[in-house]
Amino acid sequence: TTSTIACLVIGMAGSGKTTLVQRLAAELSTRDLCTYLVNLDPAVIQIPYEPNVDIRDTLNYKDVQVEFQLGPNGAILTALNLFATRIDQLVELLESREEQVDTFVVDTPGQVEVFTWSSSGSIIAESIASSFPTILLYVVDTPRATKPLTFVSNMIYACSIMYRMQLPLVVVLNKKDLVSTEFAQQWLNDFDTFDEAMQQLEGDYSSNLARSMALAMEEFYRVISCCSISAATGEGMDELWNCIQKAAKEFSSFRNEKNHISM
Ligand code: GDP
Ligand code: MG
Repeated sequence: TTSTIACLVIGMAGSGKTTLVQRLAAELSTRDLCTYLVNLDPAVIQIPYEPNVDIRDTLNYKDVQVEFQLGPNGAILTALNLFATRIDQLVELLESREEQVDTFVVDTPGQVEVFTWSSSGSIIAESIASSFPTILLYVVDTPRATKPLTFVSNMIYACSIMYRMQLPLVVVLNKKDLVSTEFAQQWLNDFDTFDEAMQQLEGDYSSNLARSMALAMEEFYRVISCCSISAATGEGMDELWNCIQKAAKEFSSFRNEKNHISM
């Protein structure tokens, strides 16, 4: 048997992480594959899936907000920090389910930076990755990334997360039911097409910036995989599952390289 894959679902607020977790679980169950779902968003009110582990069961973020006299973002971060102090318990729990489960899927807080730029996010990711082949699913709100500059900014964000977390990353272009994702696929695969889109903004300071950035991103584009889906309709889930399995196979080479990359 192959080992259980862990997918950490990250992305900007509203990109569709939670919807994707639900969709992925539904899709895999039709293939007789068993998922185990972890919700790490302490502030979410309703989730469209039944989490097996829910941060809200042990941490009430409203209480955290009152107790530590914090704003909403501070309370979310503090709740995640408190959860991270008990990460060994989560990992033990996951390990105890490994035999029955094909994929662990971890939903993260709405605001991407809470998980990706906090030490607790790193601790959680690192702890899971020390037990299971772990990958990042970076969900993109494609209708909000149709302009070259917003697109490349989003990709730079994904790139920095991949290097920070040292895990294989799949760019998941979501909401293809609302907008064709072909433009993004083209920009990822062929710099010239991106450059052409930038020509239209010629003379603009930000266009020069975006062009230089996009060139620097070519290496990143080479190592990631990318797929187009709609978490709402379920389109593209075959392709996503292939990407997940491929990324999981690359996990160990990512870890080996880790020792050689200095940042
Ligand atoms: P999260 O903050 O990243 O967890 O995003 P959610 O999963 O909560 O989704 C945010 C909003 O986008 C919700 O209103 C979803 O119904 C909607 N949404 C998510 N995925 C899709 C999609 O593929 N297509 C469409 N049309 N809407 C989506
Ligand atoms: Mg969510």
